[in-house]
Amino acid sequence: MKGREKVIVSACLLGEACRYDGCSKASQKVIGALEGAEVIAFCPEAPVLGTPRGRISVVATDAGLRVLRDDDKTDVTDLLVEQTEALIAVHPDADRIILKSKSPSCGLGTTPILDGEGNEIGKGNGVAADLLIRGLPGVEITDEMNFPSG
Ligand code: SF4
Repeated sequence: MKGREKVIVSACLLGEACRYDGCSKASQKVIGALEGAEVIAFCPEAPVLGTPRGRISVVATDAGLRVLRDDDKTDVTDLLVEQTEALIAVHPDADRIILKSKSPSCGLGTTPILDGEGNEIGKGNGVAADLLIRGLPGVEITDEMNFPSG
């Protein structure tokens, strides 16, 4: 018999101070709706980039969409991919995913995509969101902006 619903959640939505600026982005509507669920807090950036940290962005490059540091343009994509792949490997049985909008890692169609000059040329998925969609096909995935409980 299936146990409690297992929900992967962007850790900053749960109140963890893991954002680039050292703050959280706690969402009471998300937290309140998770009662009774097994919650898996996930932040791909903090373990590999530290907190606080410089800002990063999704940039359209000759090598495709990459996540670069804003300051020195260091490519951190592979670090974030490793974190996300490790999560998927440990929790292939997740029932639902709730992500933080607009993040270069967690954004779900809301992440600014920049050109090499720093101009926004569109919106897309963050690198972790993109991998979660492909790595956990069929799992319900949403963000706090579209969260149904208001
Ligand atoms: S949006 Fe994602 S990567 Fe950014 S702080 Fe929240 S959990 Fe971490």
